[in-house]
This record gives sequence, structure tokens and C-alpha cells, in this order.
Amino acid sequence: MKTLLLAFVASLFMAASSPTASNDVYICNGPKSKKYHYKEDCRGLNNCSTKIEKISLKAAKEKGRTLCGFED
Ligand SMILES: [Zn+2]
Repeated sequence: MKTLLLAFVASLFMAASSPTASNDVYICNGPKSKKYHYKEDCRGLNNCSTKIEKISLKAAKEKGRTLCGFED
């Protein structure tokens, strides 16, 4: 039980401390959204009126998403 909790906290910490090292991207779930974003606070996501979802880059591409024009 205690070990599980520690592992959970550790994974949260790792996810928070190395956002650029992961292959996760952010997508808006709106019907007109066709892009994915590296940053959750990207300008392209400001217009999102629905939930922003964090998914893997691979999953985003499988959905037919392309990189947002505001990204590097
Ligand atoms: Zn973007």
C-alpha cells in the first residue's frame, strides 16, 4: 500500500519536472480542432472552448492531428 502511494507520487513528480522530455502533447477536444500542442498554455489552445486533453504524440497523429502553427 505504502509502496504504491510512493510510486504514484514519484510518477507525478517526474511528469511535472520533465514536461519536455515526454512525448505527450495537448489537444483541444472541440469539433474544429485539428492540431496538437507541445505546451498546455499555447496560444492555439486559448480558443479551446472544450476540455484540453493530454495524449501521446503518437495518439495525436493517429487522430490526424498536425502540429499547431504557433509552436516552434
Ligand atoms: Zn499550439
